Amino acid sequence: MSKHSYPLFVAIDGPAGSGKSSVSRAVARRLGFAYLDTGAAYRALAWLVIDQEVDPQNSAAVTALLPNFDYLIGTEPDAYFVRVGDSDITDAIREPEISAAVSAIARVPEVRTHLTELFRSIARAVPQPGVVVEGRDITTVVAPEAEVRILLTATEEARMARRSAEISTQSAHTVAEQLRSRDRADSQVVEFMSAADGVTTVDSTHLDFDQTIDAVIEVINTRNREASHD
Ligand code: C5P
Repeated sequence: MSKHSYPLFVAIDGPAGSGKSSVSRAVARRLGFAYLDTGAAYRALAWLVIDQEVDPQNSAAVTALLPNFDYLIGTEPDAYFVRVGDSDITDAIREPEISAAVSAIARVPEVRTHLTELFRSIARAVPQPGVVVEGRDITTVVAPEAEVRILLTATEEARMARRSAEISTQSAHTVAEQLRSRDRADSQVVEFMSAADGVTTVDSTHLDFDQTIDAVIEVINTRNREASHD
């Protein structure tokens, strides 16, 4: 079977506020690739947990929801949506209530296994020649064999400032505290603060949005050139 029978896989990990989602989407748009936001699936499951009045700390009850987790995400960079069953929850999953509950759900091993399989099958099935998949464990667990693996970082200060500029309904202090505690909880489960072997770090602290996109595309091009010489 040809090495290129599946779309080119670009894996991007990083902490909250690193610019990962908007950069990944813009990179996908520029290259004509699909875009897969994996955090949205964890958020969608958190939304279902709350909707069904399940305690997010109750792992067994959360796991019991998985067989009926009817999840759909848009992978066109310009047609992004998130659905569970008949509900469009594209905006609802960004609410602070979801952000506060999501780490507890993401800790459950059965949830991670289920969603990892889902991400692999979505990524394989996209019609585009490539797919940019972003999250926390894409370079290490979901696709350690990906053609391109990138860790997008920025200092904590830069990440807090970006996130509080995005969220106008809460004080900068509250946003920073929530981000810090989510990072702390998430990094107990997956390592996304330092690059694994073979993963290229792009530090966006001193880069603006367009410069970050260019830096990521440069890594993709370099990796591709290297791969074609293998
Ligand atoms: O990327 P985003 O902030 O939307 O992710 C929401 C949450 O989903 C993270 O805080 C983390 O708990 C979980 N997540 C994860 N693994 C991924 C992506 C997200 O555990 N690959």
